[in-house]
Amino acid sequence: MNVEQIIVHKRDGNELSEQELLFMVEGFVRGEIPDYQMAAFLMAIYFQGMSFEETFLLTNQMIESGEKVDFSQLDKFPVDKHSTGGVGDKVSIILAPLVAAAGVAVPMMSGRGLGHSGGTLDKLEAIPGFRTRLSLAEFVKQVEKIGVVMIGQTDKIVPADRKIYALRDRTGTVPSIPLVVASILSKKIAEGAKALVLDAKTGKGAFFSSEQKVIKLAETIIAISERFDLCTTALMTAMDQPLGFAVGNWLETREAIETLKGNGPKDVVEITFALGAEMLYKAGVFENIVSGQKKLKELLNSGTAYEKFLKLVEAQGGDLSVIQNPENYPRSQHHLIVCSEKDGYIHSIDALNIGLLAMEIGAGREKISDQIDYSAGIVLQKKTGDHVINGEPLAEIFSSKKFSTSYLKGKISEAVDIRNEAKPISSLILKYINNKGQFNWFHIED
Ligand code: URA
Repeated sequence: MNVEQIIVHKRDGNELSEQELLFMVEGFVRGEIPDYQMAAFLMAIYFQGMSFEETFLLTNQMIESGEKVDFSQLDKFPVDKHSTGGVGDKVSIILAPLVAAAGVAVPMMSGRGLGHSGGTLDKLEAIPGFRTRLSLAEFVKQVEKIGVVMIGQTDKIVPADRKIYALRDRTGTVPSIPLVVASILSKKIAEGAKALVLDAKTGKGAFFSSEQKVIKLAETIIAISERFDLCTTALMTAMDQPLGFAVGNWLETREAIETLKGNGPKDVVEITFALGAEMLYKAGVFENIVSGQKKLKELLNSGTAYEKFLKLVEAQGGDLSVIQNPENYPRSQHHLIVCSEKDGYIHSIDALNIGLLAMEIGAGREKISDQIDYSAGIVLQKKTGDHVINGEPLAEIFSSKKFSTSYLKGKISEAVDIRNEAKPISSLILKYINNKGQFNWFHIED
């Protein structure tokens, strides 16, 4: 077998065998296949796609590239959530301690920023000292002790996803259904979760803007999960405008802390409760979504979820003083407030353009080796549907790089569409998908 032949085989639309997939994944993890050949292989998958069987085999090879955790002896049910990627999506940082405070185990393995979307690991690492690379023994011990852990792929746990993810990020090969499925599920199965709730994002700021593709992605994840005995359901949620107000690593972590203190943006709280209630239902802690949501609300309002978050940060070496006094976090050197130049209603805020701008000003990576500027980012001052008057702030921008004011103003006015008429507010949670089909999500009122 040779690498070039396998690339050509996929490039020409053929189905890969188990041996060919094993050869590519193992060879890449061992450093025997160079990045340029793996990038060509990923691009061939991007264009040609993969059959269901190939996607299953790729997922399996990625899981088998490292060690797996077995939580069968744990006294709590291990359940996790994963998002397919969005802008301003800090939900995992709130959800993991919140749901753990309700009595389930959350062994969460996440990723770094991918394309224009942010990554949970980078947001957590914005907390000085926070270690996202734990050993397998530390990972298991922390779940046993406090019920929640948040780590990334390591050289021991799904190393294949660690390397392939970083390469996809820089080679335009993120929005591929089989690659996303294998990436997400390899992490979730290796970490030992028994149930998974997927936040399948659709809209301008998602990797797949078409609802049809997102449904196909969710259905594939659900079907492949079943082959690994992982019970998965999905909520399809709108990602047309950024989630919450903050976009950028520390800025998002700070918004997550505020949410854990009970002061979160409405959309962030709505998605967190919906995903969390579904997690508790799947774990068998509550018989229905309404009771689960009620419990989550209590845990958030009483400060119990925040206390659990402090325990999580402490356990992973993070500096608690920045959590307790977020206003002391170092600020970016440059700061600009962009104001509206007209009266009207916010018709839309383009999540993709905001995500790309956040990356450009330092919140993301251009090259795999780039250092992130944790303080960089954008804090929106308005959301879709809000009224704005001429001269009122639309967004605050933080960066250590110097950009001209007119450039940044132009970027914000490109992303924020202001019109004379108010637009009806559309739903955030669009569908519920399980192995029986697609359903409407019922909205739970206060
Ligand atoms: N999240 C992942 O972990 N992987 C992807 O490919 C996309 C989102």
